[in-house]
Amino acid sequence: MAGEPQADCLFCKIVAGEVPATVIRETETTVAFRDINPQAPTHVLVIPKAHYPDAATLAAAAPQLMADVVRETGEVAAQENIVPGDGGPRTGYRVVFNTGSGAGQTVFHTHAHVLGGRGLEWPPG
Ligand code: 5GP
Repeated sequence: MAGEPQADCLFCKIVAGEVPATVIRETETTVAFRDINPQAPTHVLVIPKAHYPDAATLAAAAPQLMADVVRETGEVAAQENIVPGDGGPRTGYRVVFNTGSGAGQTVFHTHAHVLGGRGLEWPPG
């Protein structure tokens, strides 16, 4: 059923506490934890506790939960002191939902990457 935990899902295991993670925030519906292979000084993943394989599926099936995830990306940025500020390279941040393997998605449990703490190039690779 949509949203149910999947036995073979790494991020469901993090939600369940079966795989350790450095959790920096948790709400009733979401968890935010540090990426194991950080690509920036701040690299945090925000996930819904419920299992939806990608951002498009989540947004279509449970838009309020998608809103919870997006709101939490802003809370993470505030907690990490990377909210837009003086325009310097250490403020401002990027939120990325890799959606589909062709876009680089490797874990098929919706997650928002929150990246910041350094200057970020555009376009991304
Ligand atoms: P994707 O490539 O699917 O957009 O992002 C998956 C992310 O999950 C990657 O940035 C990867 O480093 C991270 N990741 C993979 N396995 C683990 C893990 O066991 N713990 C944590 N904290 N992050 C992980």
